[in-house]
Formats: sequence, structure tokens, C-alpha cells
Amino acid sequence: MTSSPGSSSNPGPVPGGGAAPDGLLDPEDPAATYVLEPDVVAPLVARVVTSSTAGVHRSVLPFTGAPLASVPTSSADDVASAVERARTAQRAWEQVPVAQRARVLLRFGELVLAEQSDGLDLVQMESGKSRRSAFEEVADVALVTRHYAVRGPGYLADRRVPGMLPLLTGTTVHRRPVGVVGVIAPWNYPLTLAFAEAVPALLAGNAVVLKPDPQTTLTALWGAELLERAGLPSDLLLVVAGGGDVGAALTDLVDHVAFTGSTATGRRVAARAGERLIGATLELGGKNPLYVAADAHVATAARGALRACFGSSGQLCISTERLVLHEEVADEFLDTFVPLVRALRLGAGLDYSADMGSLTSQAQLDRVVEHVDDALAKGARVLAGGVHRADIGPWFYAPTVLDDVPDDALCSTEETFGPVVSVRRVAGDDEAVAVMNDTAYGLNASVWTRDVARGRRIAALVRAGTVNVNDGYSATWGSAAAPMGGMKASGLGRRHGRDGILALTEAQTVSVQRGANQGLTLDRLYELGGELPSRVLTTALDAMRRLRLP
Ligand code: NAD
Repeated sequence: MTSSPGSSSNPGPVPGGGAAPDGLLDPEDPAATYVLEPDVVAPLVARVVTSSTAGVHRSVLPFTGAPLASVPTSSADDVASAVERARTAQRAWEQVPVAQRARVLLRFGELVLAEQSDGLDLVQMESGKSRRSAFEEVADVALVTRHYAVRGPGYLADRRVPGMLPLLTGTTVHRRPVGVVGVIAPWNYPLTLAFAEAVPALLAGNAVVLKPDPQTTLTALWGAELLERAGLPSDLLLVVAGGGDVGAALTDLVDHVAFTGSTATGRRVAARAGERLIGATLELGGKNPLYVAADAHVATAARGALRACFGSSGQLCISTERLVLHEEVADEFLDTFVPLVRALRLGAGLDYSADMGSLTSQAQLDRVVEHVDDALAKGARVLAGGVHRADIGPWFYAPTVLDDVPDDALCSTEETFGPVVSVRRVAGDDEAVAVMNDTAYGLNASVWTRDVARGRRIAALVRAGTVNVNDGYSATWGSAAAPMGGMKASGLGRRHGRDGILALTEAQTVSVQRGANQGLTLDRLYELGGELPSRVLTTALDAMRRLRLP
């Protein structure tokens, strides 16, 4: 990041970048100085659709708690103006051939990879995650974008299907863009979760109005800048900024809402979408299990579990929060896993030196502390971690493994969304499946076994949208051609692959009845009057049945 004091060539954030530029003063503290220099922030925040009456939001550097940047917010009128501008731009965009739209997205994916250093800095500074976790986001956006740029035109292609009457009816299914898609994203994966939905929406001929979380708006604006540089025409991806009120205002105006966030907010968004009769794709929370079967390669499973549990400090919807261990291998697994957890390096540098970064906010730290304290008060034992690492930064928390966690502990049922995992021992696969399914959620699951057929059998019994055999989460997440999303309280609809893009379109069926120029239409048949038309059609249907025509 050219003028950022926290650039990768100068690892480690250095507070005290500069005062907010005119017009972006924080009303609560006009003299505040920010970690990010104004000349870095100004061109990004200039992209927010905002007006002079709207407010500002002060984001924070999670590594130190210092003010990071002052970002303007959008009013309800600004949201309306953004949707209107997007709607106008969309009408021209849907006329652009899909191959040309794909070329813009291919260039976007290339730019994200080529300029990753700036993006990684922003993701780290806004979310507090380690650089290696931030890189997952860059890799994901590049992968998903390439997938849709290459395969998307095929997913969207017109499809001929059998018509009502063989030879006489020609029927084609078209995929039409819905219009303006509202993308509402959380703070935990600010690049991935903003653009994993925006990219297929744009390819399908929609415009997008994106509302990131207030803490991670700069990352979204950086992506918007790259899309413009990749050749995306004006107003096709607009960013509105602010909290839940701005998200609600957006849900009230768009033609489809793609929401990622908590189950509680997802229910509100779905209810509003239902009232408006618009589509909603919801990616929500999880309480994801990882099962180590009796025949697993235990050392490999322990290493896999390490990343599955503690990537992005556990602030990842698909990360593991429940270890389900076959009793025959439980001790051996823990003997390997726990020392690996204790050895994880926590750090705040804008480089690859740390394994795990910080939690993103005081609210996340409070939630983690509450879950751990509650489990300990109810009789759980700490195998690793269980401590707030204020010596590193205000919201760092040690990666934590808990044993003997009772069923009524908060962390047994509720999503912690932090670096806390509990251990449960089982006597066999059937019990493991019952334990894995004993949750309101159904997002992701992981099964470790040397016997792939056994892994597939267990997967078929687990109520989760994605199941990884001998991997934590990346195998399904990275399979961009396959649907990804949650069952039960973990969501509605799927992203990725054919399902992900078709959800952002409307199917339109066009049937052409042949013979009109010769005056031979169905209406002529009905003109015969009486029972005759029904008899003719019954004979035709019977012939179709005999010929096994669809
Ligand atoms: P959240 O629901 O509080 O907020 C998510 C987004 O919704 C934010 O941009 C927020 O401003 C906005 N919002 C809040 N109220 C709204 C309303 N009434 N209408 C419209 N928008 C509104 O979630 P969070 O705490 O920021 O994110 C963490 C949660 O997200 C976790 O539960 C996590 O599991 C989930 N998540 C799920 C996935 C997935 O793919 N399934 C991925 C990442 C995170």
C-alpha cells in the first residue's frame, strides 16, 4: 500500500498516520489521528455513495485498538440513489455479450492477484487476521472469479427443452438477470464475502450495490476500484456504507439480496425479502464438527484440524468448533494436536510471521471469554489456551482446546466464532453421526478416515451443506464449480458453481408454436368444437406415452 505506514515492506502497523481530511472529520473526535494516511484512504472513500448530511464511521485497527480510518456512511436517500444509478447502468450492461462481461471479470481476478500486497494489508488492518489467513481471501476471489469467467457463460446459456407437442412446439429456457443485486457482507472475510456474490451477479448481467460491514469498508472499496480498472462500466458496482439500517434500506429496494452474516440477522433479511417477494441467498452461521474415525491417519488429522479450527482466529463460518474423536484414537490425536495448538505463533505483523492474528473486535473477544468462562464454570477442562493475550494486543485470544464440555455449555450449542474448540469422544461412526447432527446448524463438516468409502457413507448421513473427507474446509470451499452453503439454520440457497449464478437470474421460458404461418395452431383444433378436440389430444398423449416421449 503505497503510502501506508503499515505496508508489507514495513511490517507491523505503526499508529499515528494522520488527521482525517476535511469533510471526513470524526464528529466525536475531530482531532483524531489515524493509522492509515489520509492520502491512502481518501481515494477509496470517495467511492462511497454518500451525501454531505450522512455521518462517518471510525474503524479501528484490531491489532492495537487505535483508530484506523474515518469512513463516510450512507443515508437511506443515498441507498435509494445508489440503487437507482445501478438500475440505469444495468439496462445497458445486460445487453453486453456475456463473453465481454467475462473478460472484465478475468482482468479483475488477475488484478486481485497482481496487487495482492495492498489488498492483504487492508484485509489484515481491518479484520486483524494473520497474513496467511488474509491470503485465503485473495486466492478465493481469484479462483471464484476465474471459474465464473470461464464456466459462467455456459451456465447462463439458453437451453432447448422438449416442447408441448413434438415438432410443433419449440421451447427454450433463457436466464435473465434479476436487475440490481444487493450484497450485504460481514467483517470476517471482507474481500471474499463481498466479491464471491458480486462476481457471478455481474457476469449474469446484473448491477450490484454492495454494503460491507462498517469495520471492513475499505477492503470492499479496494475491490470496487480494481473492478473499475478491469473495465467494469460506471455504476455497475456501487458501495454504500454503514450498519444494519443501511443493510435494511438496501433490502427494501433491490431485486435480490445476497446476505452473509449471523443467523439472527439472516432471519430478518429473509422475512423482509419474503414480504417483498424477492429472492434471498443467505449464508449464515455454523457449529461445525470434525470427526476423526478409528482408522484415520491420526498425525495428518491433527495437522488438518489445526487449520480447520484456528484459521482467521476461528472467525470463519466453516471452521471447526467441535472435535468428535473416536475413543480408540482420541488420546493419540490429542497428544499430537494439543502441542501443535500451543505452538501456534500469534502476532500482529503485516507479513507471514504469525500463524494466527487477533479477534476483530471487543464484542468478539467478549463472546469468546463468555463461552470459555461458562464452559469452565460448568466443569470443562482447558487442554490448551483459555487466556486473553492482552500482552500482544487488546483482542488477541490464545487458541483454545476444551475437554469435558457439558451439553448445556454455551459453546456446545451456540456458535463461538473464535479460536475455541471442544472435544467429544464417541464409540463408533453411528454415535459420531448423531453427535455431528446434534446442532441447529448444518454448514460444514469434516471426516478423517483412511477408507474413502467409509468417509462417503458418513458424509451421506451428515446434515451439512458441505462435507470434507480428509480435509477441514478448503476442499469443498475451493471447489468453485460445486454448490456451497448451509442446511438447517445455516442458510438458504447456495453460492458457487451453477447454483450460485442461476440464483441471481430469473428463468424465462419462451415457446414458439410452429405452423402459425400455415394457419395450423391449437386454436384451430378447439374450433372443431364438442368432444373432438379432447379425443384428438387424448390420442396424441397416448402416442407420446407409447413412444416414451418426455
Ligand atoms: P451480522 O449479521 O451482525 O452482520 C452481517 C452484515 O449484515 C453486516 O454488514 C451488517 O451491517 C448487516 N446487517 C445488520 N443488520 C441488518 C439488517 N437488519 N438488515 C440488513 N443488513 C443488516 O453478522 P456478523 O456478526 O457481522 O458476522 C458474523 C456472522 O456471519 C457469523 O455468525 C458467521 O458464522 C456468519 N458468516 C457466515 C458465512 C457463510 O458463508 N455461511 C461466512 C462468514 C460469516
